[in-house]
Amino acid sequence: MHKNFWGDYNAASFDRLAHDIQTQYLIVGGGITGLAAAYFLLEHGEKDIVLIEKHTIGSGSTGHSAGMLVTGMETSSWTHLIRTHGLPEARAYWDAQNRAVDLITALVEEGHIQCDLFPEEHLRLAGNAVAQKQLLQDFSAHKMMHSRVSDLEGEKLAEEFPADEFESAERTTKNVSVNPLSLARGFARYLQKRGVRIFEHTELLSAAGGHAQTNHGAITYSRIVRCMGVSEKDKHIQPFLTTICVTRVLTTKEKEAIGLLDNDMFEDVETRSYHYGKITGDNRLLVGYGDTKHTSGFTYGYTHLPHVHSIERFIARVFDTITPNIEYAWSAEFALSKSELPVVRVGEEEVLVNGAGTQIASIAVVSYAISKLLGKRHVLDELFGS
Ligand SMILES: Cc1cc2nc3c(=O)[nH]c(=O)nc-3n(C[C@H](O)[C@H](O)[C@H](O)COP(=O)(O)OP(=O)(O)OC[C@H]3O[C@@H](n4cnc5c(N)ncnc54)[C@H](O)[C@@H]3O)c2cc1C
Repeated sequence: MHKNFWGDYNAASFDRLAHDIQTQYLIVGGGITGLAAAYFLLEHGEKDIVLIEKHTIGSGSTGHSAGMLVTGMETSSWTHLIRTHGLPEARAYWDAQNRAVDLITALVEEGHIQCDLFPEEHLRLAGNAVAQKQLLQDFSAHKMMHSRVSDLEGEKLAEEFPADEFESAERTTKNVSVNPLSLARGFARYLQKRGVRIFEHTELLSAAGGHAQTNHGAITYSRIVRCMGVSEKDKHIQPFLTTICVTRVLTTKEKEAIGLLDNDMFEDVETRSYHYGKITGDNRLLVGYGDTKHTSGFTYGYTHLPHVHSIERFIARVFDTITPNIEYAWSAEFALSKSELPVVRVGEEEVLVNGAGTQIASIAVVSYAISKLLGKRHVLDELFGS
């Protein structure tokens, strides 16, 4: 089995820092959060921006993810968010996430980014009584937020997703599927064209008082934005491990047999660890499974076999009309906030954004953080202030 399905994580596209520099805004981390931070600064008219990445752009969680850009939350459910923060605040978060999907779609078009972007429906599938109860609750919450959801049962579900295992499902429109590594790299090239100075293989070693030390030189800055994912040592953030398997290329007949001719993305509704998946741009079946709380050191290249076995069993059960061999498998970590909302801290000098758990939520939240950094109002003011 191979590990690098989306592309070569070691392929650098940007220079490393070669000498000491100055900047107004220093962004640390070349994942979706850091890239989006640079984008929102540009959109607010800021021009003097440097982004540093310790390895290569997209080499963290972002480029190892499944690339299912779906509105949702890893840290909580909409039902709970409405209960704890109120309907208008939850709706604002939902709207901000929808805008993040629009932003990615527009950016890919404007930047001519080749990343296999397809608008796809997303199915949340329930196979037991507990999952069905959760799904029902979520469905009414989604309806309250005027989201584009519909429910599926019986024949309608069998047409969409014929696996016997599931009894009901929620279908959401307006999500996109991408190759996440290509998206991140294309996004970075787009930002560079708009004047952002990007340095790969440039690791932040320390930062204080407007002075950052990297492994290749010093950077003097006015404001620093930390988007370092699992590398951020913060007691409010927890790393989780999840694993993805990708099969051989399927034929059109096979895709039809498993109900994925229309390339829907899917996940099963489980409380913590859950299976998720989609059809890739080159017609392979991708299935992921996690999350496992992970506290010991993780290094890329490691594949968590218990997750792989769970995925193999899921594929055998749910897609039992085909026998697709797994050709790629890899595990990776992502950062999750320990509380209901992602971690956002906006100080005089330093901003920290982390733990949103999904790419779309990360974009929505960093948009809020950058507005606060610049002293502007944002639709998420009440949510984060409440
Ligand atoms: C296997 C897997 C599947 C997933 N699937 C999905 C999915 O389908 N959809 C979805 O929305 N989300 C998914 N996620 C979650 C999603 O990938 C993350 O929530 C999101 O990408 C986090 O982005 P980020 O920019 O905050 O972190 P990262 O992408 O990890 O970026 C942080 C970057 O900071 C860099 N960095 C760290 N320390 C330093 C330093 N000292 N100096 C310079 N740079 C530094 C790192 O190298 C890294 O590139 C998945 C995650 C995994 C692991």
